[in-house]
Amino acid sequence: MERKKHHLKFGSAFDYAPAPETTPVALKKQYELFIHGEFVAPASGSYFNSINPANGKRLARIAKADHADVDRAVKSARQAFGNVWGPMDAAERGKYLFRIARIIQEKSRELAILESMDGGKPIKESRDVDLPLVAAHFFYYAGWADKLKYAFPGKAPEPLGVAGQVIPWNFPLLMAAWKIAPALACGNTVVIKPAETTSITAMHLAEIFQEAGLPPGVVNIVPGAGDTGAALVEHEGVDKIAFTGSTAVGKRIARSVAGTSKRLTLELGGKAANIVFDDCAIDQAVEGVINGIYFNQGHVCCAGSRLLIQESIHDDFVARLTRRIETLRVGDPLDKNTDIGAINSKAQLKRIQELVKTGEEEGAELHSSSCPLPDEGFWHRPSFFTGVTSSHRVAREEIFGPVLSIMTFRTPAEAVTLANDTCYGLSAGIWTDKGSKIFSIADQLKAGVIWANTFNKFDPTSPFGGYKESGFGREGGLQGLAAYVK
Ligand code: NAP
Ligand code: MG
Repeated sequence: MERKKHHLKFGSAFDYAPAPETTPVALKKQYELFIHGEFVAPASGSYFNSINPANGKRLARIAKADHADVDRAVKSARQAFGNVWGPMDAAERGKYLFRIARIIQEKSRELAILESMDGGKPIKESRDVDLPLVAAHFFYYAGWADKLKYAFPGKAPEPLGVAGQVIPWNFPLLMAAWKIAPALACGNTVVIKPAETTSITAMHLAEIFQEAGLPPGVVNIVPGAGDTGAALVEHEGVDKIAFTGSTAVGKRIARSVAGTSKRLTLELGGKAANIVFDDCAIDQAVEGVINGIYFNQGHVCCAGSRLLIQESIHDDFVARLTRRIETLRVGDPLDKNTDIGAINSKAQLKRIQELVKTGEEEGAELHSSSCPLPDEGFWHRPSFFTGVTSSHRVAREEIFGPVLSIMTFRTPAEAVTLANDTCYGLSAGIWTDKGSKIFSIADQLKAGVIWANTFNKFDPTSPFGGYKESGFGREGGLQGLAAYVK
């Protein structure tokens, strides 16, 4: 790809030399299901392709689990729960989790590369954000395994049994860690279905479970598409469903689980408002807004996809944002200088493009970076809309791509009204110099996570989850344990 030179305002021109990640990785041609501690072929014999979204080429063939395979996995998990993992001394369970966390750390470079190859996210994110958080989640919940009675004082927490877990493609390993670590720490066993476009790192995690000597059946991994997920959710042998994904699928799952004794937690979509007041540190806010929406190509449920700017600073802020997005580097996810990688799939790119088109048709003004895009693969320039109103689809629907919708407000009360005017309630951001304003605004926002003068910061000790159509239940922290005990 020909890269354009960026002209700095002090007159010099520069370009980065390519800095591709060259660590060798053990990518396999074919991945099998992981059931009862072993890699096994699917009953139906069917496989699907996982592609590299940065060039559209096939990376590997992945076994597709059907009803029979899911059934085998759930039975294995049930057996492991009853015979091994359930009765095991909690401190021993914790040791396994610590061991898994340490192996993840040892292999984190390789896992980060595989994550970037399969999912399209820039290596600096998978290496510096995803993988450290994956290990941190296992370490954190390893520590809780033998201390559950302190987490729930006065109670005797018991595991639920077999947890069926379904996860999306935007943070493949991290979502797996969010789900598996607390479930195991509480003494449950797991059957998990990764997303169709990003199963590879989950299969490498399975190898880590083997290496850690995790008893067979404690975690089973059944890749496949939506029907595999549905088979898992509907299976009678599952005691708890944990789902992260779209609100549409979440609602379907809620309906199918209703009337059964299964426990359910849902982490769904979002349309977060990032609220910028005129008294903020403006350059810091620009960086925060950039990170809020362009991080992971905007494939983030809690992305700050609506920007609410106080009217008096709108023009200045937009001018700074325009300059800043011109410097974002879009391209090879494995290049260490890349800021924005590939869109996860062709289907997702089409969804983004369609919604962007409605934004223009409904009268908002589109501003895009002029950066070059590679010829192959799936890409979208970092973009934002000005002149957006609350009724525009780009203000209401999740774009799940690097596209920001900008609106203005005059008073704090108006900012709160605009921010809450959505069916979602996952996250929000507040940018101001005044601590008192942070507290008063945060109090009024209907969002599960609220960042102040920062955005998209995650930590295993803090709970994460939504209000309204963003779902229910919390993952992370002490609260994340509650979803896996009775
Ligand atoms: P999705 O289409 O809902 O898929 C999520 C997972 O569910 C995938 O593994 C998918 O399999 C599976 N699935 C599809 N249909 C199913 C069914 N009928 N029954 C059971 N499972 C089914 O969502 P996505 O497009 O992958 O992910 C993007 C969405 O996830 C966004 O809306 C985003 O906001 C949300 N998300 C939320 C959070 C959070 O914590 N709140 C975090 C990350 C993402 P296939 O991949 O094979 O289709
Ligand atoms: Mg892929």
